[in-house]
Amino acid sequence: MGITVQKFGGSSVGDAARIRRVAQLIVDAKRAGNHVISVVSARGDLTDELIVLSQQVSTTPPRREMDMLLSTGEQQSVALLAMAVDALGEEAISFAGAQIGIVTDSFHTKAKIKNIDPTRIIEALEAGKIAIVAGFQGVDENSNLTTLGRGGSDTTAVALAAVLNADVCEIYTDVDGIYTADPRIVADARKIERLSYDEMLELASLGAQVMQARSIEFAKKYDVAIHVRSSFNNTIGTYIVREAAEMEGIVVSGAAVSKDEAKIALRGVPDKPGIAASILGGFASHNINVDVIIQNTSEAGLADMSLTVSKADLPDARSVAEALVVDLGASGFECDENIAKLSVVGIGMRSHTGVAERMFSALAEEGINIQMISTSEIKISVVVDEGLADKALMAVHRAFDLQNSPF
Ligand code: ASP
Ligand code: MG
Repeated sequence: MGITVQKFGGSSVGDAARIRRVAQLIVDAKRAGNHVISVVSARGDLTDELIVLSQQVSTTPPRREMDMLLSTGEQQSVALLAMAVDALGEEAISFAGAQIGIVTDSFHTKAKIKNIDPTRIIEALEAGKIAIVAGFQGVDENSNLTTLGRGGSDTTAVALAAVLNADVCEIYTDVDGIYTADPRIVADARKIERLSYDEMLELASLGAQVMQARSIEFAKKYDVAIHVRSSFNNTIGTYIVREAAEMEGIVVSGAAVSKDEAKIALRGVPDKPGIAASILGGFASHNINVDVIIQNTSEAGLADMSLTVSKADLPDARSVAEALVVDLGASGFECDENIAKLSVVGIGMRSHTGVAERMFSALAEEGINIQMISTSEIKISVVVDEGLADKALMAVHRAFDLQNSPF
């Protein structure tokens, strides 16, 4: 019997009718002869609503208590979905993360999975039941509830697929798959048939908000085939799979823009060995991910260092910057929230040249200034003014002819 892990996002279980429809999808998969494990997110915008509520009672809600609160969202979903499956005549059993031994570290609100004990799920499957698992949550070694960061249900699903050696991890969402760019911004964006893990990883970290980036790292490490598809129709979506030779023929697979970025510029930092390490170490020790980094040429032994962080981390990042200015004897720092990061991604960049030039020319033609640049083997990112981000994305999408299928 095949093992299928299916993950349903919040919008797929937004109300009773949708929950019933998802229950039908699950029952169909079971009746087609599979062992089925369904991972579910909190309904609709419940997680956001709970965050707002927490901010109304405290400006600094303790992270441990945030996890207590946020994990309730997924718990509602699994219970409701198990009831709906039961009503369709199949046996289902719902599990909170803690009940199936999803053990994480203790970084509340962004915990990482350390271990999963599949015994209880396997027992349930062998008894002919459908296992319905709360996404996004786990428990640390001291029995504190934890959550895995926004979008963490994807990681729960992929991790379960890895542990159970599932045939496929289906990610059901409200879009048909991964597009060459966000179709709400670029009208002629096209659905991508197949992407490599590395490309999806870049796109996910870049604000293609279809899957949590960490879930893709997991999938790559454990070779879990992912199928991103819509829960509202039967269309085949996008497969995210191990890299194949013909994928290299496509220079750019997709473009993405992330408006969830902020820039911090540290001014007048002493230009000597060890400074960059202290700066990055300062952010890292607060678990703040630093993305694009640039240091300008030094003048009179002083340099400026600019870096980007996610907007959500900006309050913490500000305190880190404040402390660093004092520690390093820098002259000060500035923050800019009105930036966006625009990127193009493709494993074909490894073997083709001229990609950066094409991207920069497209931006220049639109009169868009580039504030920062960073590249990796398969990605080029630029930081631009947030107000120009959509226009920039459209220009770049056109420049690489992404609206036309490469095949
Ligand atoms: N409910 C959580 C969130 O909204 C987890 C998830 O949706 O995957 O971030
Ligand atoms: Mg959600």
